[in-house]
Amino acid sequence: MADLGAMSRLLPAADMPDVTRVKTLFNLTRPGDNGQPVLIDKQKLPAEERLKYDLSEKENGFREYVSNLIPLRRRTPFPKPDECQNKTYDIEALPQTSVVIIFMNETWSTLLRTVHSVLDNTPPRLLKEVLLVDDASEMEHLKTPLEEYLADFPKVRLIRSKTRIGLIKARIIGFDAATSSTVTFLDSHCECFQRWLEPLLARVATDPKIAAVPVTEIINSEHFGIENANPIHVAILTFPLLSYDWTYLPKREKQRVKSLTDPIYTPAMAGGIFTISKSWFERLGKYDPELLIWGGENTELSLKVWMCGGRIELIPCSHVGHVFRIHTNYHYGNVNSFYSYHRNTGRVANVWLDEYKKFTMNSDGQLVDIGDVSARKRLRKDLGCKSFRWYLNNVHPELYIVGDGVYSGAIRSVLQPSMCVNARDYAYSVALEMLPCNEIGGGQLWDMSELGEIRHSIHCMDSGYSKEVQLARCHGGGGHQAFKYDGQSLYTEFGYCIAMEGNVLVHQTCDGSLSQQWKWHKNREQRNLTNHI
Ligand code: UDP
Ligand code: MN
Repeated sequence: MADLGAMSRLLPAADMPDVTRVKTLFNLTRPGDNGQPVLIDKQKLPAEERLKYDLSEKENGFREYVSNLIPLRRRTPFPKPDECQNKTYDIEALPQTSVVIIFMNETWSTLLRTVHSVLDNTPPRLLKEVLLVDDASEMEHLKTPLEEYLADFPKVRLIRSKTRIGLIKARIIGFDAATSSTVTFLDSHCECFQRWLEPLLARVATDPKIAAVPVTEIINSEHFGIENANPIHVAILTFPLLSYDWTYLPKREKQRVKSLTDPIYTPAMAGGIFTISKSWFERLGKYDPELLIWGGENTELSLKVWMCGGRIELIPCSHVGHVFRIHTNYHYGNVNSFYSYHRNTGRVANVWLDEYKKFTMNSDGQLVDIGDVSARKRLRKDLGCKSFRWYLNNVHPELYIVGDGVYSGAIRSVLQPSMCVNARDYAYSVALEMLPCNEIGGGQLWDMSELGEIRHSIHCMDSGYSKEVQLARCHGGGGHQAFKYDGQSLYTEFGYCIAMEGNVLVHQTCDGSLSQQWKWHKNREQRNLTNHI
């Protein structure tokens, strides 16, 4: 069994915690076992260990030091809900899968823990191979040491890209190399739970046009404890960024499913973790190969799976942990995450959103160039895919499209016409602030919905927390999230006026002063939906 002893011989000593010392200090026997958090009081660490601890979050956006304390093989919890324990699967009848794990400069312990969690939690008959695709990593431990380590695991194959190609092309390379009838993608910092694969394969075996997505559990980026999410959240699309967010089960799904273990229809997916039939993904044109480095590929896949006759299902009994980083910013040549994200989503909008593309950030290529999309449009036509309007009405009726409201766009102060209401980083529990109007949207795009909500995507202005107006998750229930606008004043359902005070937004008794007056654009085209999330 691979353990930290073997690992520390392969890595530069400076990167590694003094495992024995730390274990003794904190009385740890099997750190992280069963998904437990590893709680380290860094004040109690010796000075040189504290330094390693402090530095270890910078590179990857998670606390490598803690990850390196946890054995490469640890047990993960049994998936919830408890009813999953009664499910049985006919291993002999299920198709095999090729697991594709792409990586770029991944930490040794998170990468190898991903691989071991696959090997340890998958019935050998179902696992054709594990394909590790290296997107031209530079870290030393990912060169010869990785090859030497993997030599002991015949099912694991390492594929190297000579140049940096980004995660989308890396997944395509892994997909092309796969030799079984289904392919399962993972990020390089995941941990599969017990019996994670069987429920995914069972669905794809029922209908090859189903893309099966496990419940993504959060591996905490500081202490590496794995949560066991309950209740389940589904991924939804968000405008104008064409990104995704998590929300509770939509009402219609609650009504449709008969038990807690039934597959859930989900309008979107997060991206990196799913199982799909090889031939179906191939027919769908895999990913748009012109998508750079990072971003947008999940939206492309979500839309085309549904619009071209398939379905995305979230499988309650399949659980995979994923480390959500605190920060990422990929650079390659002239391309960074901002550039690739907007180029990629701009392409997706132009191919898949029809008349709704104008509600997204970069559909006209104003922010960054999106290149030629004609080949992807042809693909859509050849596949005979349905319209985005069909998707909205049938798959994602609760989607709120910013820019589609009764009033829409920037909310501009009459007192200081160069200042607009801004939702910075979608932060909750802070006062909404006024910033110079940016004229491009982003945090300054607001919509008044038919319910009187003042929405920024799925976030709403809320006057119920303090004198200052804050942002909160939209709940659709009116009250402190209901407002009226008469072309001049913006006021709450309880009759208070929204005003600019200093550089924040407050509610106060209406007195007709200029600080209580606002300019907001009235929208003519509306979609008239009432059951938004
Ligand atoms: N990745 C890659 N090439 C890149 C960027 C990322 O192969 O240029 C890999 C990365 O190692 C990870 C996966 O792609 O396994 C997804 O990236 P990341 O985890 O940063 O995305 P997130 O989960 O934060 O959205
Ligand atoms: Mn990731």
